[in-house]
Amino acid sequence: MRIDILTLFPDLCDGFMRESIIGRARKNGLLEIQCHDIRDYTPDKHRRVDDYPYGGGKGMVMQAEPIFRCYEALCRETGTKPYLIYMSPQGKTLTQQRVRELAELPNLALLCGHYEGVDERVLEAIVDEEISIGDYVLTGGELAALVVTDSVARMLPGVLADEVCFTDESHYDGLLEYPQYTRPAVWREKAVPQVLLNGDHGRIAQWRAETALERTRQKRPDLLDEKAGR
Ligand code: SAM
Repeated sequence: MRIDILTLFPDLCDGFMRESIIGRARKNGLLEIQCHDIRDYTPDKHRRVDDYPYGGGKGMVMQAEPIFRCYEALCRETGTKPYLIYMSPQGKTLTQQRVRELAELPNLALLCGHYEGVDERVLEAIVDEEISIGDYVLTGGELAALVVTDSVARMLPGVLADEVCFTDESHYDGLLEYPQYTRPAVWREKAVPQVLLNGDHGRIAQWRAETALERTRQKRPDLLDEKAGR
């Protein structure tokens, strides 16, 4: 899979994606990520990419032309029209289900806004979908694009050690994950549940299923309603 990020801060995005699991996946050729500096595509000789909003008001708005040119260059380079997502607090909130669907696409492009946002006309021209990472407002779309990239990347074959790493996790099947423990078996007088120590995989699976259900009931009862279609 290839993910392209259209941003005013390519170094910020690239730094994150050189580290840890995503960095390793890129090195191993499991995933290609390219960051594109929208500023490189401005026709303005001072490299400006924003201007005052029509109708007045505070703040600046990202202009349509640099974004459109950046997108055109990407289409030319890849020889295809990538599925373009505008990171926006006005989009549908990202869910694990949507992450799984996005991970099936061969090409994904993520447009990061900044300032007061982006000229609506270029959004109408090139955007396939708007995605929000929550009902709050960030200064820019970069953190949101990294959230999408990270969550999609870990679904790709070979990125995690085993598929179970994500099929067992919170939200995969509409429940939260069971509690996790590691050594030592007793930490400051708190012992790991006995059932996890006896090697009986049937009982461990049952305990995990029960505790997953119980903690979903306690922490996120709304997920159970959703699962039941209520
Ligand atoms: N004026 C816009 C509004 O009220 O809808 C908010 C603009 S915000 C300050 C600047 C940029 O940050 C947006 O263009 C978007 O790309 C990004 N952004 C902010 N909050 C976001 C969120 N919750 N999810 C995804 N992207 C977000």
